[in-house]
Amino acid sequence: MKIAVLAGDGIGPEIVAQALKVLRALAKDGLKIELEEAPFGGAGFDAHGDPLPESTLKLAQQADAVLCGAVGGPQYDALPRPQRPEQGILRIRKELGLFANLRPAMLYPELVGVSSLKPEVVSGLDIMIIRELTGDIYFGEPRGRRDNARGEREGYDTMRYSEPEIRRIVEVGFQTALKRNKKLCSVDKENVLETSRLWREVANDVGTKYPQVALSHMYVDNAAMQLVRNPKQFDVIVTGNMFGDILSDEASMLTGSIGMLPSASLDANGKGLYEPIHGSAPDIAGKNVANPLATILSSAMMLRYTFNKDEWAYRVEAAVKSVLAQGYRTADIHEAGTQKVGTAEMGDAVVAEI
Ligand code: NAD
Repeated sequence: MKIAVLAGDGIGPEIVAQALKVLRALAKDGLKIELEEAPFGGAGFDAHGDPLPESTLKLAQQADAVLCGAVGGPQYDALPRPQRPEQGILRIRKELGLFANLRPAMLYPELVGVSSLKPEVVSGLDIMIIRELTGDIYFGEPRGRRDNARGEREGYDTMRYSEPEIRRIVEVGFQTALKRNKKLCSVDKENVLETSRLWREVANDVGTKYPQVALSHMYVDNAAMQLVRNPKQFDVIVTGNMFGDILSDEASMLTGSIGMLPSASLDANGKGLYEPIHGSAPDIAGKNVANPLATILSSAMMLRYTFNKDEWAYRVEAAVKSVLAQGYRTADIHEAGTQKVGTAEMGDAVVAEI
């Protein structure tokens, strides 16, 4: 199992180093993996003048899975758009055909006190948000800037989804719901948008193949409200790129810290890119305070979704639960009565449990 490792920028190298410790600990126990690192994001620009250098893309294409840290930093903010680190992410998703973004939002019982919501609203929370990743208004053409008929400047983007694009992501939603509590909520804005009307029609059509799954529909504005009002009503949510971008960040806060949440971005054959949902956190980079658990849990998702090694994924997840139960906390999830540890110490604690 060949894994391309793209640590990226900011806290990326620190947190990825912890996930690699964990994977190497599993390798000692017999997990057959091969790891190869390459520059990506700002680091790619520094090394080769491109956030997704040709050699990095080739490695990612040849690998079975990609493990990423995060990209970006203030030193790259003034670059022209194609050279910005974030373009590297958009391009690698497109190049690898990673259309399905899976973001679990799960609250560990030990962290109920650090959620922004009341314990009774969030305890036991376990949602999977599935966001379409390669279409929608982020990629639709035409887009641009122009002067309108009144001579005023205007900007415009195009929200666009084709039926096959909707069908394949909704299929992922149903397949995921089948493995969980068999409830799928499709989120759209059908009352206003043509794109959403097609989305809902296709979702209903795909739903006829999955009578075991209870399909519901919700407008995105209501979904944003329900996520903070009564988030436990959801099992699996499937939605488009922009709505998913916003809702998954909202859901992440319910679980206490952005530093806890992993993600998977999958192609049609299960190949995937795995990364924490947070960014490169330049404010805390290099200080050994970042939480590495989202990245470690991303490597567990990799074992489960690309390599079908459920039992190894479970070992990683159980080790994370165990270190939390023992009271180890990085600064972002620290509370009175728990033991504050740094990035590397948290990685060591997970390895010790494994
Ligand atoms: P961010 O997620 O990097 O940070 C937001 C806040 O969360 C910061 O206060 C940060 O310190 C904290 N935080 C993030 N990860 C943490 C962790 N593991 N442990 C503890 N605290 C953590 O978002 P931002 O500040 O808006 O963006 C910073 C840079 O990251 C920007 O250049 C942005 O473009 C980039 N970014 C990259 C990705 C990606 O690589 N996929 C995603 C989002 C943002």
